[in-house]
Amino acid sequence: MKRCIIIGSGLGGLSTGVVLAREGFDVTILEQGTQIGGCLQCFERRGVKFETGMHFIGSALPGQTLHRLLRFLEIDDIALAALDSQAYDIIRLGDQEYRFPNGKEAFIAQMTNYFPHEAEGIRQYVECVERVAQASSLHTLDTSNANSAINTEYQLRSINEVIDSLITDPTLRDVLVGNQPLYAAQRDKTPFSTHAFIVDFYNQSSFRVVGGSDNIGNALIRKLEQYGGRVLTQQQVIKILSDDRGVKGITTADGSRYDADIVVSAIHPVPTLAMTDSPLIRPAFRKRMASLPNTIGIFSVYLDFKEGTMPYMNSNYYAYANGLSPWDSEHYSTEDWPRGYLYMHFCHEPRPRYARAGVILSYMRFEEMAPWLDTTVGHRGEAYESFKRNRAERLIDSVQQAFPEIRQAIRHYYTSTPLTYLNYTGTSKGSAYGIARDISLGMSSHVPQRTKLPGLYLTGQNINSHGILGVLVGTVVTCSDLLGTEYLYQQIIKASQ
Ligand SMILES: Cc1cc2nc3c(=O)[nH]c(=O)nc-3n(C[C@H](O)[C@H](O)[C@H](O)COP(=O)(O)OP(=O)(O)OC[C@H]3O[C@@H](n4cnc5c(N)ncnc54)[C@H](O)[C@@H]3O)c2cc1C
Repeated sequence: MKRCIIIGSGLGGLSTGVVLAREGFDVTILEQGTQIGGCLQCFERRGVKFETGMHFIGSALPGQTLHRLLRFLEIDDIALAALDSQAYDIIRLGDQEYRFPNGKEAFIAQMTNYFPHEAEGIRQYVECVERVAQASSLHTLDTSNANSAINTEYQLRSINEVIDSLITDPTLRDVLVGNQPLYAAQRDKTPFSTHAFIVDFYNQSSFRVVGGSDNIGNALIRKLEQYGGRVLTQQQVIKILSDDRGVKGITTADGSRYDADIVVSAIHPVPTLAMTDSPLIRPAFRKRMASLPNTIGIFSVYLDFKEGTMPYMNSNYYAYANGLSPWDSEHYSTEDWPRGYLYMHFCHEPRPRYARAGVILSYMRFEEMAPWLDTTVGHRGEAYESFKRNRAERLIDSVQQAFPEIRQAIRHYYTSTPLTYLNYTGTSKGSAYGIARDISLGMSSHVPQRTKLPGLYLTGQNINSHGILGVLVGTVVTCSDLLGTEYLYQQIIKASQ
């Protein structure tokens, strides 16, 4: 029985733990925080529950990719509530709203209704999204349409370049990237493939997790424990032990030592590599990982609504200030922040009439955190509290333009900044989604699942992509390396039958 230590209990660590424990590995997951789950964590204040990271998921109908992965992990019994199939996403540009319906043909019809003069371009765009998403067997779990040439081409072309080549109307170009906060898109940088995977994923079907995303983490822990694995909290890994043949184990901040044959790090590669001084990890690799850009951070306002006042919104609402495009939202100035936001309600029961809680998200750069870098949670001082209050009020003011009733409905609100994420998930510089993909870096932005130090593997949002599908695909990639690709795919296929 191989002893396996996994660093980090986010979705990546937990799902990898379940797969390996089921295959007979003796799995121990070490989590630095008091709560498991990383971005799956929820918190409760005054009896109301809030999600901090994962808010909605896609492709979860039987036969669709995520559903197959949830079955493979034996957690497909998590309660889900479908978002409005006629408007799972609503994009507001100025005073105009655009609704995204689920399904390829419905999406084409709706966009053509808004922009009849772009009928041909819209069809070509949707077909391009589908072709690119299906070209990756990792994302479809189907090798029949896999096409590495398409994959490579669209990893090297930016979202705006591809959309501009198909669509002429500037408003439609903006509408199609209106949900870009989901992948922190950057003009001329983010690959079209990133856009295509996410658009296709949510267009197939989209859901909230009833009761909160921590249900996913809790379901994975139950499975892990069923297969003999365990998660230990308040165990911050600080060193990976090795000799000239490979890993030996790890040590934690409290001085505990855990021996292991395999260490899987489900955190960012840079802090992972800092934990080992093994010469087997080449300086060039360390330098390459350290040079990779990270996605921008997020400021969140968690809203506690008075009971029975705020009708439940079964859509995600993305809005941009008058005359502003979704592009360049990250290049805000202190004066024009927020240039855009994403507003959502949490789903505490299967068919809620009223929302008890919601969240408003907007970009926030880590540089804004400079005055408080040396402070700790709960002790950051009045200036930080006042900064957060000011930003929260400005964000609520923005939302109020589309939802005039919102202020009246708020009982309390709470906030989080990139510093909060740094503290609760350990993510580099409070980055929302980890390493940012950039077409100019090409293959040099690739983060491998296996390192040159035998027995040290990587998984989680940084090796493939973020989000529930990106991370679970990362789990498949890492576990395939340990268990065999063909074997693992057969297991996934068997689980879906
Ligand atoms: C605001 C926000 C909204 C999002 N919304 C969605 C959404 O709607 N849908 C979707 O699919 N995805 C969404 N995502 C993305 C998704 O939640 C993440 O990509 C995913 O959960 C990341 O999982 P992970 O395991 O890679 O990392 P994480 O969740 O970051 O987990 C890493 C874990 O490792 C622990 N750790 C770090 N260092 C150490 C150490 N030295 N020792 C021990 N433990 C350590 C951390 O405490 C943490 O628990 C969102 C993310 C954010 C931030």
